[in-house]
Amino acid sequence: MQVFINESAFWGLLVSAIEVYKKESYGLLLGHKDGEMFMVVNAVACQKAERHSTWVKARDKSYARIVNFFKNLPNLYVVGDFHSHPRHSTDLSADDIDGMKPGQIYIVLEIKDKAKDKYWSYNDDGTLSGTTDSWFIKIAAYYIDPKTLKPKMADVLCPFAIGFDIKPKERKRNGQG
Ligand SMILES: [Zn+2]
Repeated sequence: MQVFINESAFWGLLVSAIEVYKKESYGLLLGHKDGEMFMVVNAVACQKAERHSTWVKARDKSYARIVNFFKNLPNLYVVGDFHSHPRHSTDLSADDIDGMKPGQIYIVLEIKDKAKDKYWSYNDDGTLSGTTDSWFIKIAAYYIDPKTLKPKMADVLCPFAIGFDIKPKERKRNGQG
């Protein structure tokens, strides 16, 4: 299984994880599923939840409301959700696994204070990681294997992020003001 994250969704994941650091962020993934690939075109943070346990309880009502909203939009579906693990690995917790069902994709972000700069790149386990100004962030994706009903890792694809320049080069001014 592969998960393609576009530029907009990439920013959505990062911004929400950074915004509430060192709390956990939560949100919904919008896009569609195309065979063995999830296309994630938007990551929408859900402000209602502050902690995982709260989110799990709040999810039923808030989730239903938001899912209903998106049902009316063509070609865009809630394909899963995401949350951050501040200062923890991307490994799934028992709660995480409890909330997973087949046919959806789940993104987990590890976020911690940056020790040193790392250009954004893919890792052997299918995750994607790199640094921003202050943080190290790793993005992992999981899905439920329909045969075993156990979580499996999907390969995260995000061409936009690869080689993402941590210190943007100065843009040449064109003299037009
Ligand atoms: Zn978790």
